[in-house]
Amino acid sequence: MKTDYASLRSQVRNFSDFYGAAITDAKKQISAAMREMSEANKDLLEKYRKEVALRRKYHEQLVELKGNIRVLCRVKPVLKEDQHEEGQSVVVTTDPNNESALSVLKGQGRSHNFELDRVFHPQATQEEVFQEIEPLVTSCIDGYHVCIFAYGQTGSGKTYTMEGSTENPGINQRALKHLFSEIEDRKDMWMYTVTVSSVEIYNEVLRDLLSKDGEKLDIKINPDGTGQLHVPGLRLIEVKSFQHIKKLLAQARRNRITFGTQMNQHSSRSHALLMITVLGTDLASGAKTTGKLNLVDLAGSERVWKSGAEGERLKEAQNINRSLLALGDVIQALRGKEKHIPFRNSRLTYLLQDSLGKGNKTAMVVQVSALERNVGETMCSLKFAERVCKVELGPAARKIQRGGGSHQCD
Ligand code: ADP
Ligand code: MG
Repeated sequence: MKTDYASLRSQVRNFSDFYGAAITDAKKQISAAMREMSEANKDLLEKYRKEVALRRKYHEQLVELKGNIRVLCRVKPVLKEDQHEEGQSVVVTTDPNNESALSVLKGQGRSHNFELDRVFHPQATQEEVFQEIEPLVTSCIDGYHVCIFAYGQTGSGKTYTMEGSTENPGINQRALKHLFSEIEDRKDMWMYTVTVSSVEIYNEVLRDLLSKDGEKLDIKINPDGTGQLHVPGLRLIEVKSFQHIKKLLAQARRNRITFGTQMNQHSSRSHALLMITVLGTDLASGAKTTGKLNLVDLAGSERVWKSGAEGERLKEAQNINRSLLALGDVIQALRGKEKHIPFRNSRLTYLLQDSLGKGNKTAMVVQVSALERNVGETMCSLKFAERVCKVELGPAARKIQRGGGSHQCD
């Protein structure tokens, strides 16, 4: 018993030495493994960064190949409510084999063919339309300025395309959803701040749609010496989530209707703008980017004076016509890479100057009705589209040649 006891005692005494040595050894092994892991991690992160940069470059190349200014056309489906009136036969046809062709029957068997960057047939879904716009939204997160316009006569589906319905949201909501999900994906490498403002332009007057009383605003040159424009007093609201933005969109929509009660059908006679600014900071390098996404539901393009409008209504119509013409001129000049771009000819183009200029991206969705009774306006809208589309743009551009055709509708 005594010997056993002595031996056990000595074992116990030595045990702590053993134990200590084993632990030191294990520690060494663990920290070596950890070093290795973190080296591998660093390496992976480096590779990931390179991949992200490459993805960005290819994305830009893709957008550039498609053209920085894209003119799309969406044909509105014939709805039940459209069928109660006269002139309901369909005169606009799309070509299932050619995604950029469209043809309008002008009576007596004559038809006029148009070719744009992309044509959506009447059954095209909101998702399909957004697919075409999505790369531009991604560019905005990368620090580009992007404008998306909906153009067309009242009732042709501009608001449907931009805002959509509750069950079937349009470009605005889909773009913002995409924006927030991209931001989430990049959160380990980039930090983003998103701010939103919303204005309408009615009779060349700018109003803040996110203020309670629709405050009137002015466009000024920024006193900071950058030569950039700014709108003193414009509400810029920082948004953290898609849900928050949905609330703001609803507020802007409500305000637009409220301010419009004095004037009948006000909303189709003003331009509504949703302006989203995305400030990005690269967490590794500290580099900053500023992207802007301008979503614009334009005023109805119908030629009201044709129906003998007078007074206030005529003035309204002239203002709309002037600003839509100015927009067409600016886009045409940009696509033609002209030296002088006539931004100052309307509030709308002046306000969007720093987003429309060189190096930015624009999509114009021209909405048309397919019905016979709207054929005059449809032709005018398509001529507008063609005018801005015709110009050659960079290496991948198609050359579109067509004879004659007036510049603007009369
Ligand atoms: P606009 O804004 O150009 O005046 P709206 O977007 O208000 O025209 O469209 C007029 C009506 O047609 C609305 O009731 C809208 O829901 C409907 N509409 C427009 N485009 C579509 C479409 N692609 N699919 C289903 N309904 C549409
Ligand atoms: Mg509308």
